[in-house]
Amino acid sequence: MLIEVLDAKSFEDFADHEKVVRCHDPKSGLLALIAIHNRNLGPALGGCRMRPYENEQDAITDVLRLSRGMTYKSALASLPLGGGKSVIIGDPSNGKSEALLRAMGEFINTLNGAYIGAEDSGTSVADLRIMHEVTEHVAGIHERKLSDGSTANGDPSPSTAYGVLQGIKASLKHRFKSDSVDGVRIAVQGVGNVGRNLVNLLVKEGAEVLISDAYEPAIQRVLDLHSVQVINNDDIHKQQVDVYAPCALGGGLNTSTLVEIQAPIVAGAANNQLANDGAGQYLFHKGTLYAPDFVINAGGIIDIFYERRGYDHGNVLRHINKIQDTLGEIFTYSEEHQVPTHVTAEKLGESRFLGIDISDVA
Ligand code: NAD
Repeated sequence: MLIEVLDAKSFEDFADHEKVVRCHDPKSGLLALIAIHNRNLGPALGGCRMRPYENEQDAITDVLRLSRGMTYKSALASLPLGGGKSVIIGDPSNGKSEALLRAMGEFINTLNGAYIGAEDSGTSVADLRIMHEVTEHVAGIHERKLSDGSTANGDPSPSTAYGVLQGIKASLKHRFKSDSVDGVRIAVQGVGNVGRNLVNLLVKEGAEVLISDAYEPAIQRVLDLHSVQVINNDDIHKQQVDVYAPCALGGGLNTSTLVEIQAPIVAGAANNQLANDGAGQYLFHKGTLYAPDFVINAGGIIDIFYERRGYDHGNVLRHINKIQDTLGEIFTYSEEHQVPTHVTAEKLGESRFLGIDISDVA
């Protein structure tokens, strides 16, 4: 196993990273990177993603961007955690083996707990459990008892969905002075692990839900439980609804969709929803209330944090409920200072992990 420390300062736009490490293990075929952005608040916890990146540079850019995002997410969720992420270069559908996952576990172990891995796109709870055979520095792997007496595996998606519901309520409260979703029209794009759980919660509380997904079986799984309206995937963002909740892939708020969005609120789980800074500026000037993704989708990391602290579902839910307060603070500051919500959230995050007043953040 060849492990090489890369010069973090050499990456343009990402020079504030603490450490970037590359691992090549010819025996198992593992080619992976771990990036630690910042540990001012605690160890760097973040998912381990597996993707068939076209080249190593794409993987480096991804791991740097994602690890930085985790610093902000944990700081804004009031967790004593820093930001980190790892990526395995390979196809999760046919490139995985127990040897490769164990090698990844050994790679994580070399950082002695500075980085803690978790489930992400392309890796599962089962994969993390294999890594756990060789390192204790992975999370989201243990079965936990929920308040209703049922058990759940380490999948954080139900908690992420619960947090998104809190974020939708905070957005409704700010815009319409009522946080009830009863009778509110909500369009959910993507009904996978998070979107499906979100629909369950919304329907239970009386919302009128519209859904779309690129994958027919995902839609069917929702229709087996609820009679919601199914919308063509290309049209879901154009619906006349109160809330548009992107819960599929990133980059969905872009030049072609922004002008077509009718909803006064955009609040969903997907990571990196804004194609760029201009997309957030556009929404702000259009008067659309945007709940920054790295604030509203923190339920999963909160859930994973408590797994390592002693899991009590009541404590987890109480902590996730605070997403409402954080978003309320961001919305109010944004309005009072005429700064878009995504910029306000970044400033608030930096004020927390850099330990300075929000007004002093450039
Ligand atoms: P998932 O893969 O289980 O579900 C995503 C769903 O979106 C799938 O059903 C897929 O078919 C659908 N989809 C893909 N492309 C689409 C498109 N162009 N249009 C419509 N539907 C499309 O993933 P997930 O775990 O539910 O995560 C959803 C989003 O939330 C991702 O962006 C993820 O990064 C983010 N997120 C997830 C968690 C978590 O706990 N799982 C935590 C934080 C953020």
